[in-house]
Amino acid sequence: MGYQLRRKRRRKRRGYALQILWTIVALVSIAGIIIGYKIGFGDTEDGTSPIANAADHPSESSETEGELLTQISEIPTKEPNEEITVTEVPTVKPTAKPTATPTEKPTIAPSNQKMIALTFDDGPYPPVTERIVETLKKYDARVTFFAMGNRMEEYKSTVELAFEGGNQIASHTYSHKDLSKLSVKEIKYEVEHSNECINNVVPAGDTYLRVPFGVVNDLIIENVGAPIIFWSVDTEDWKSRNADKIYKHIMKNAHDGDIVIMHDLYPSTADAMEKVIPKLIEEGYQLVTVKELLEAKGIEVVNGNVYYSARQ
Ligand code: ZN
Repeated sequence: MGYQLRRKRRRKRRGYALQILWTIVALVSIAGIIIGYKIGFGDTEDGTSPIANAADHPSESSETEGELLTQISEIPTKEPNEEITVTEVPTVKPTAKPTATPTEKPTIAPSNQKMIALTFDDGPYPPVTERIVETLKKYDARVTFFAMGNRMEEYKSTVELAFEGGNQIASHTYSHKDLSKLSVKEIKYEVEHSNECINNVVPAGDTYLRVPFGVVNDLIIENVGAPIIFWSVDTEDWKSRNADKIYKHIMKNAHDGDIVIMHDLYPSTADAMEKVIPKLIEEGYQLVTVKELLEAKGIEVVNGNVYYSARQ
């Protein structure tokens, strides 16, 4: 029994010793792993140890890190202009002026067909002029625009559109002055400069003239160098600005050979044309330019002469 007890005790002591030994081994191993990790056996991404790196970099406080991040964020991620290919700048060719050409005009019927010349003063004014031009195109009709010379450049495309539709581009002087209050030199300037401005935009040729305010005197007649076109039907569209009134006035008063005055400044006038133009055609009228009207009716056109209508 005593021997067995001793053996037991000895086994027990050996057991303690082994436990202590394993504990020491374990502790040393753990310490070794920790130290080894700290010293750094593993490689960093760029293949250098953190310690070697630490020597190259000053310690980074959160402040400097912030600065660094700021600096980094300012650095462009791509090389500038790396992928931008410089395309050749197209050279703008100056357009030979004027380029607009009228569409082929349908032959004007013999003078025994009823004709009316609708005319519009004071334009071009795109919102109205272009609407009228559209309506005319729809019904294959033509009119005369007595346009302002000083509006030519600004509304060039509108004038081209009107001209291309076969409409006559005539002159209402350069700046709408009362010619009776001007000197000969000034009258000539108002007329000639307007013609130049018109012909710079469209090849209108010699332009017929409608004098502002319907005022003429001998001095004007002698110096304008153009046929002066008045009217025989006055719609007073500028006064009423009422499409229905304009329509009724024309349908009641306009007959073969008449020249009708309106203004392409008012939407009500454009509205009226949407009814007037098809109605006149329905009633057998051919809608022509002033030039076509006078020619078709066999009226000689002379510079300085005043024309009210082509009534027979
Ligand atoms: Zn006018």
